[in-house]
Amino acid sequence: MPGLFDRLTTLIGKGAAKGAASRVELKAMIGTAGFSGGVHPKQMKNTAGLPIVDSPLPPRLILPLKQHIGQVCTPIVEVGDRVLRGQKIGKSQGYVSAPVHAPTSGTVLAIEEHAVPHPSGMGRLCIIIEPDGKDEADENLPPISNYRAEDPGLIRERIRLSGIVGLGGAVFPTFIKLLRDHRHPVEMVILNGIECEPYLTCDHRVMLEHSAEIVRGLDVIMHAVEAQRGVIAIEDNKPDAIAAMQQALTEADLAHVEVRVLPTRYPQGSEKQLIQAVTGRQVPVGKLPLHIGVLCQNVGTTKAIHDAVCLGVPLTQRVVTISGDAVPEPANICVRIGTPIPFVLAQCGLEDLNGVRLIHGGPMMGERLPRMNVPLVKSTNGLLAMRQETLYSENAVEEPCIRCGHCVTVCPVGLVPNELAWHCRHDQFDRGQEYDLFDCIECGCCSYVCPSHIPLVHYFRYAKGQVAKIEKERAFAELSKARSEARDNRLAHEQAERAARRSKVRKQQAASAVVKAKAEDGADKPAEKKPTQAAKDMKAKDMKAKDMEKPA
Ligand code: SF4
Ligand code: SF4
Repeated sequence: MPGLFDRLTTLIGKGAAKGAASRVELKAMIGTAGFSGGVHPKQMKNTAGLPIVDSPLPPRLILPLKQHIGQVCTPIVEVGDRVLRGQKIGKSQGYVSAPVHAPTSGTVLAIEEHAVPHPSGMGRLCIIIEPDGKDEADENLPPISNYRAEDPGLIRERIRLSGIVGLGGAVFPTFIKLLRDHRHPVEMVILNGIECEPYLTCDHRVMLEHSAEIVRGLDVIMHAVEAQRGVIAIEDNKPDAIAAMQQALTEADLAHVEVRVLPTRYPQGSEKQLIQAVTGRQVPVGKLPLHIGVLCQNVGTTKAIHDAVCLGVPLTQRVVTISGDAVPEPANICVRIGTPIPFVLAQCGLEDLNGVRLIHGGPMMGERLPRMNVPLVKSTNGLLAMRQETLYSENAVEEPCIRCGHCVTVCPVGLVPNELAWHCRHDQFDRGQEYDLFDCIECGCCSYVCPSHIPLVHYFRYAKGQVAKIEKERAFAELSKARSEARDNRLAHEQAERAARRSKVRKQQAASAVVKAKAEDGADKPAEKKPTQAAKDMKAKDMKAKDMEKPA
C-alpha cells in the first residue's frame, strides 16, 4: 500500500524544476470556499461503512488522572477499594479540570505512575482497575429527562460532574465552554461533524448510529447557553450522515436548526476554520469564538452531553477508529476509557507489534507514540498502526528549502511557514513569536505540501514546547526570586524587631540600674543620728570641765 503522502509527493516532485506543472495541479487541489488555504489529502476512510462494535472488557483498565487540558485530578479511592461503573475516582483540582470515572465495576489494584499516550513516552499518575465482569453501575447521577424545564446552570453542573471534555481531540473541559457570558451571548451553536482527518470515521459512524441522541444533545447545549440557532456542519463526502442527521432533525422537530453541507477540505474541522466556513466571519486573533457569538462542539462530545444529562451516564467510553496498513481488520470500536492499546489492536487482528508505528489520532495532526503499552484516553479519536516502510515521515529525507511558497499558499492561518521554521530550527523563539508561532494550529498542511520534505509542523511543535518550557522556567525563577526577596525582607524585619527589643531591654536595664544604684547609695550612707539627752549632758559636762581646767 502506498504511503499516505505519496500522491502529493509524486504530484509535486522534489524541486523547482518540476514546479511549473505541479503547482497548477496543486492549485486545483486547494479549495477556495470558506477559509483560505487547506489541502485535499487522500481520504483513506475505509472504515466508514463499518458499524461501531463494542470492545470486550480488558483484564486491566489504566485511568490517567489527567486526560484533559488543565490541572491533574487527585485520586479519591484507595488500593483495594471496590468501584462501580460511573463512580468518580479522580476529583477535579482547580477550575480548569474534569473528573475521572471508573469505566466498569471492579477493584482498584494500584495508584501509580504509568506510561500514557504522549509523544515523549512520559508517565502520569494512573488508577489501575481490575474489572470484576459484573459491570455494576453507580446510580449517583439521575437522568434529567425534562432538561428544558431546568436551570441552565444545573445542566452545566451536570456536564462538569460527568467529566465531559472535547472529544474531537482538544479535551478542553466542556462545561467551561458552556458558561454564559452576558457580554457575549451565544447566537449560534455549530456542531462539528466535519471529521476531515484522513482515516478517521468515528464521528461519521456516531452521526449515522446516534443521530437522535446528537440532535437531543444539541438541544441540551442550546438550552444551556440559551442560543437561538443551531447548525450541524458536515462535509459533502458523508452523504449518508447528512441524510441521517436531516431525518433526526425532522423527527425532533427542532426549530432554527439546520444541516449545513460544506465542500470537503482539510483542515475544515479546525474550530476557527469551521466557523469561517459556516458564518463567513473570522474569529479575531487572540479572541474566542464566543466573542463573535458562536459556540462549536464536536458531534461525539454532543452525544456524551446527551448521555450525561438525559441518561445520567458520565463519560467512561468513546468510539475510536482503529486503522492503518498494519491492521488486518480495521474497525470503529466503542471502548472503555483506560483500555490498553495492545488489547484493542488485538480485537482488530493485530497482535505482533514488531515493526509497527502507532499514531495517536489522524495522520495530519496525530502524534507518534514511542510506547505501545499505554491506555486509550478521552482524546483518542483514532489509532493508526502503520508499517515502518510505508510511514512517509520516517522514509522522507529532508532537503533544503527551495522557496517554492507552497507552504504559504496552503496555510489556513495565513502564516509564512518556511520563514517561521527557519527561526524555530535555529532556536530563535522570539523571532518565531514575531512570525505568529502561536497562531499555528498545527494542521500539518505545510509539511504535507513541502516538496523538500521539511517537517515544518514538527519544528513549530518543538518551538512551542521550548517557549512553554522557557516561560515555565522564567515563571519559576521569578517565583523563586520573589520568595527569596520575601524571605530576606522577613529576616531583615525580624532582625530589626530583635534589635529594637534588645535596645528596649537595655534601656530598661539601664534605667533600673540607675534606680538601684541610687537606692544602694542611699543605703550605704550612715544616717545622721540626733544626739541623745545623755550625750548632750555628757557634752555639757565635758565643756564645763574644760572651762574649770583653764587657768584663771
Ligand atoms: S518550506 Fe515552504 S517554501 Fe520551502 S520548500 Fe517547503 S513548501 Fe517550499
Ligand atoms: S504553519 Fe501551522 S497552521 Fe500553517 S499550515 Fe503549517 S501547521 Fe498549519
